[in-house]
Amino acid sequence: MTAFDTCIIGQGLAGATLAWVLHQQGQRVAVVDDNEPSSSSRIAAGLITPVTGKRFVKSDHFDKLVTTAIKFYQTIETETETTFLNQQHSVRLFANKDERELFLKKSLTHFPNAVQVLEKPINETFFETSNGGFEMKQAARLNVPRYLDVSQKFFSEMNVFFESKIDIKKEIELTNNAVRIPKLGLTAERIIFCQGFSGSKNHWFQTVPFDAVKGEVLTVRIPQLNEPRVVHRGIWLAGIGNDLYRLGATYDHEHLDLIPTPSGKEELCARLAEFLRLPFEVINHQAAVRPVIVRRQPVIGFHSQFSQLGYFNGLGSKGSLQAPWYAQLFSKIICKKKELPPEFDVAQYLNFQNKTKNHR
Ligand SMILES: Cc1cc2nc3c(=O)[nH]c(=O)nc-3n(C[C@H](O)[C@H](O)[C@H](O)COP(=O)(O)OP(=O)(O)OC[C@H]3O[C@@H](n4cnc5c(N)ncnc54)[C@H](O)[C@@H]3O)c2cc1C
Repeated sequence: MTAFDTCIIGQGLAGATLAWVLHQQGQRVAVVDDNEPSSSSRIAAGLITPVTGKRFVKSDHFDKLVTTAIKFYQTIETETETTFLNQQHSVRLFANKDERELFLKKSLTHFPNAVQVLEKPINETFFETSNGGFEMKQAARLNVPRYLDVSQKFFSEMNVFFESKIDIKKEIELTNNAVRIPKLGLTAERIIFCQGFSGSKNHWFQTVPFDAVKGEVLTVRIPQLNEPRVVHRGIWLAGIGNDLYRLGATYDHEHLDLIPTPSGKEELCARLAEFLRLPFEVINHQAAVRPVIVRRQPVIGFHSQFSQLGYFNGLGSKGSLQAPWYAQLFSKIICKKKELPPEFDVAQYLNFQNKTKNHR
């Protein structure tokens, strides 16, 4: 058996980021993932957007989270000699005059430094811009699949990455203050489950109340468009090169599966046609489930009865922004350098009376 300090189950945004942070702290880390192509992280657009939603809300603690995220991803880019983070302003177009007025009321007081109102936010030949729009300065975009691929390559080269689907109930053995996964020939002081929405089936943490949301995304070809910025107008349009753009996303709280639907495709196409003046062709269609936990805040920490079992989940629809800050906090708790703030502690949910719709 090979001995590790920490074994991470799940290498999406949560698991990959925690693995890096613990590795940076000098821990011996094993990473296990089944390479599911429709994981939330593999489908995500990786957008970091300061002001979101119809009511123009600046994400809680955005400045602190974005500073940590940018610095972290840049460190990994340097370590792996790759690039996967693009810091570029994004554009938001107003859908109507009411939106514009609400925005103008809030912008000076709520997010004075994050935005810049533009007379001509974008090329009018290509986009419907009659209500104007604004540019977001602190926006960024993480190429999540590339980040996950280079992370996996790095840990594979260290012989600590295991491609495997673990049956959590049958294939993990608890010993005194440690864990073993005989199938992989490894033992570790602790396991941290970073499973995304699959974590809702983890029997040790089954009372954690998910309020997950399925999202569908299209890849469209728009040959005449050349817009490097992400464009938001209820949905987002993000270029990926070679005339291709990703277009998303839908929100479905009912059908928590990975199946792309005709209605999802129809909705996205109709909404794009509202503001794009160019023809487009759909060339791919994907779906995944965002791991949202009811209080809409990530959770970390350990099982109250089995202290060798840890949990990192609930990144919701802001995984790229939130993963580094929460991974760094968790690493300090693992290394006993900090107390876990109760509002982030998974233990608060271990006796939770779960009444949410999508609890399994
Ligand atoms: C359509 C859509 C668009 C999105 N857009 C954005 C965006 O623009 N910006 C943003 O920041 N966020 C976005 N998100 C949200 C983001 O994807 C999530 O916050 C994030 O990916 C969650 O990461 P995770 O690691 O917790 O979970 P996951 O990505 O689900 O990763 C969990 C991993 O663990 C593996 N796993 C689970 N159980 C096991 C097991 N038993 N054995 C082995 N492996 C296992 C899974 O296969 C998976 O690889 C979007 C999500 C969706 C669905």
